[in-house]
Amino acid sequence: MPQLDTTRLARLVETSRILNSTIDLDDLLKVIINEAAALTNAEAASILLLDPHTRQLHFRATSGGTAPGIAGLIVPLDNSIAGSVLRSDSPLIVDDVTKDERWNPDVAQTIKFRTGSILGVPMHDVDRPVGVLEAINKRGGRFDQLDVETLVILADLAGVAVEKARLIEQLRSANKQLSELDRLKSDFIAIASHELRTPLSIILGYVSFLRDGAAPQLAAQLNSVMEAAVRLRDLIQGMLNLRYVDAGQAQLSLSEVDLVTLVREWMAARDTTAEAKQQTIRFHLPPAPLAVMADRGMMEVVLHNLVNNAIKFTPEGGRIDVGVERHGAEAWLIVRDTGVGIAKDEWERIFGRFYQVEPHLRRHHEGIGLGLSIAKELVELHQGRIWVRSQLEKGSQFFVALPLKQ
Ligand code: ADP
Repeated sequence: MPQLDTTRLARLVETSRILNSTIDLDDLLKVIINEAAALTNAEAASILLLDPHTRQLHFRATSGGTAPGIAGLIVPLDNSIAGSVLRSDSPLIVDDVTKDERWNPDVAQTIKFRTGSILGVPMHDVDRPVGVLEAINKRGGRFDQLDVETLVILADLAGVAVEKARLIEQLRSANKQLSELDRLKSDFIAIASHELRTPLSIILGYVSFLRDGAAPQLAAQLNSVMEAAVRLRDLIQGMLNLRYVDAGQAQLSLSEVDLVTLVREWMAARDTTAEAKQQTIRFHLPPAPLAVMADRGMMEVVLHNLVNNAIKFTPEGGRIDVGVERHGAEAWLIVRDTGVGIAKDEWERIFGRFYQVEPHLRRHHEGIGLGLSIAKELVELHQGRIWVRSQLEKGSQFFVALPLKQ
């Protein structure tokens, strides 16, 4: 077996390093063909990738002055040199393509490139053939066994890198589609919540007016209507908070906010949902202020969303602890509950838009799965972090870390 010289080996190692660090498919293909031509001392090189559906080979990239029109050109698996390489799954040297019956002069015509000799080797992803790498027109002689060895190694490195890049491309495009879907949902919610607000305030106004002058029995019924309308208002308010997030940095109105005071004031103004569930809420606040530069309204939304979730996902009689602590140069807001808990594999996902652990149709809890994603985006607007630690059936602990004002 011929031995690769150290120059070629060194170049292959360097190429492998570059291939590993390149994830853009076009960039990757360019590196591969340039190296294929250089390492085998050929005039040009090309890559043909197999379309798994049509089982045809497509020119994806070429080097060395071949015409630009070649990209996308289709080569059949039967009756072509590249097809033979792929089907036999082994390297092939053709010294003069014009004398080979598998040679397709149409391709040569289209690309207006004079082809003499070809060395083709199959490219694999692990053990599946994914395409063919060709070196074209050996300078000053014929392709030899050393060229074959070199190109086989390069094709092996390239096959895995190309598949990795393809997968990343697919993932990116799937991600893009998902974000577009999320954006559509968010737009819909922003419009719907805005439109719902006006008729709801009319209902609230009239019910409250009627209740004031009603006989006791009717007043009790109107009270139920009022409670339902208030619940609806809170839901809509939660949806409206999306506008904060979508406006992003532009909406941020920063001032010095003392988290201790913020929690204390929120505690005084909070509603009676926790009492109604016989839950105990305890506050753990340090004596000295902990000031951060923040948008006060946004911080209230974060606190509200976390404590509301704690109340919602904790059964009757449970306990909720809200604390503010100093950790180095950060202030931490901590909300702990003794509720249903969250499985470890959900710890990241619950911060995604519209994500809810319970399936929609079997939900026991109100909400549309926006509270935590809004909290996360608002915290990140403040250069902060938010995360959760939890144990199923035992409870959860949500943390928000914000940089202290210098
Ligand atoms: P929503 O409360 O409207 O469903 P969120 O974005 O606030 O939406 O929360 C997403 C999901 O995370 C919830 O549906 C729930 O499954 C889970 N979750 C949030 N907070 C808690 C908590 N304190 N305890 C248990 N699960 C929680």
